[in-house]
Amino acid sequence: MALRIQKYGGTSVADIDCINNVADRVLKGHEQGDQMVVVLSAMAGVTDKLLTLAGQASKRPDKRELDVLLATGEQTTAALLSMILKDRGYHAQSFLGFQAGIRTDKKSGKARILNIDCQQIKQALNNGSIAVIAGFQGADNEGSITTLGRGGSDTSAVAIASALKADVCEIFTDVDGVYTTDPRICSAAKKIKKISYEEMLEMAILGAKVLQIRSVEFAKKYNVPVHVRSSFSEEEGTMVVNESSDMESVVVSGITCDLNESRITLKKVPDQPGTSAKIFSPLAEAEIMVDMIIQNTRSGGETDVTFTVTKDDFIKAKEISEQVAKEIGAKEVLTAEGIAKVSVIGLGMKSHSGVAATMFKTLASENINIRLISTSEIRISCVILAKYAELAVRSLHTAFGLDQK
Ligand code: ASP
Ligand code: MG
Repeated sequence: MALRIQKYGGTSVADIDCINNVADRVLKGHEQGDQMVVVLSAMAGVTDKLLTLAGQASKRPDKRELDVLLATGEQTTAALLSMILKDRGYHAQSFLGFQAGIRTDKKSGKARILNIDCQQIKQALNNGSIAVIAGFQGADNEGSITTLGRGGSDTSAVAIASALKADVCEIFTDVDGVYTTDPRICSAAKKIKKISYEEMLEMAILGAKVLQIRSVEFAKKYNVPVHVRSSFSEEEGTMVVNESSDMESVVVSGITCDLNESRITLKKVPDQPGTSAKIFSPLAEAEIMVDMIIQNTRSGGETDVTFTVTKDDFIKAKEISEQVAKEIGAKEVLTAEGIAKVSVIGLGMKSHSGVAATMFKTLASENINIRLISTSEIRISCVILAKYAELAVRSLHTAFGLDQK
C-alpha cells in the first residue's frame, strides 16, 4: 500500500467529463489499495476570469478579498470531484486549504506555506476516505484565506506530500512530461525520463512552465519525489528526483528560451566604490528582481553597467535607473526590449569542460551575436536578439546531441 498525492491542473479538470476522468484515475489507485490524496487546481481559465471580475469591481481590488475570491476556483473543483466520487459509492471528503491545515504567512497573493497540520487528512485516510484538497490556498494565523501565487497548486501538492511523507507526488498536466526543450519550438525535443531537482529548478526559473518554481524548491528541500505526467494518457512522464551519479554523464539535459526579459544599460558610470550599491539599492527597494548584471570598465575612470529585469518590471526599472543616472553622474541610459535569454542546463557541466565553448561556437556558426553571458554551476545563458531565439534553440539542441533519433 502506497500513499500517493495526485495533483490535477486546470486543463485536467476543465469540465465535468474531465473531472469524471480524474475520478477514474483516482479510483484506480484507491482500488489497488493505495491511500489517495488529490489536490486540484481551478478549472482552466477560471482564475483568470475571477481576476477580470475583481478588476471590474474595483480599480485596486483589496488583496485580502482578492484571495477570498480566487480561492473559490479550487473550492469548486474540490467539491465537484468529491460529489462524483461519493456518487460512485466511495468515501471522499473535500478540504479547503485551511481545513487541510495549511498555514501560511500573510502575504496575500503570494503567501508562503509555514506549516501543515495534517491531522484531519490523516484521519480521513485512516477512515478509508479519499482526501480531495483545494490547491493554491491556505490561511494565515488569523484565519484569513491566502493564495500561493499563480500555479500554486503544484506547491500545495508537494507541500502536502512532504508533510504526509507520501511515496510519490504525481503532477498531472496537459503535457506528458518535461522535455529537453519546448517542442513547439523544436520538433526534435524529447521527453526526459529523470531529471534532478537542481536542473528542474533552473528550467522552471528560465520559463519551462510545467511546474511552479516554488514547488520545485520545496521538493528539493524536503526530498519529495515528483512525477510530472499527462492526465490524458497512461504513459510514464518525467521523474524529478535527487541527483544520482548516473546523471552527471549527461552534460546538457535541457535548453530553455526566455523571452520575458529586457535590458538596461547605464553608460559611463563613474568608476568609484559604492556606485553599484547606488544603482541596485533603489531597484531592490522597489522589489524589482534583477537577473543578469554585467559591468565593463572603460578607460578614463568610467564603467558601463548593464542588467536585465523581467518585462513586467521594465518601465519601473527604467524610471529608477534614469533617476539614479542623474544622481551618480552617469551619461546615458540605454534600453533594449526585443531580447531573449537562451540557456543550456546540465548537471554534467560540473565535471565536463567545453560546454561554454560549444555553445558560443554554435551561436557563431548561425551568425548570432551574443549580447550578455551569465553562468551558474549547471547553466550557461546568453542574451541574444529575440528574432534569433528559435534558431538558437534548435541549433543548440542539435549541437548538444539532444535531438530525438
Ligand atoms: N488556479 C491557480 C492558477 O491558475 C493555481 C493553479 O492552477 O495552480 O494559477
Ligand atoms: Mg498549473
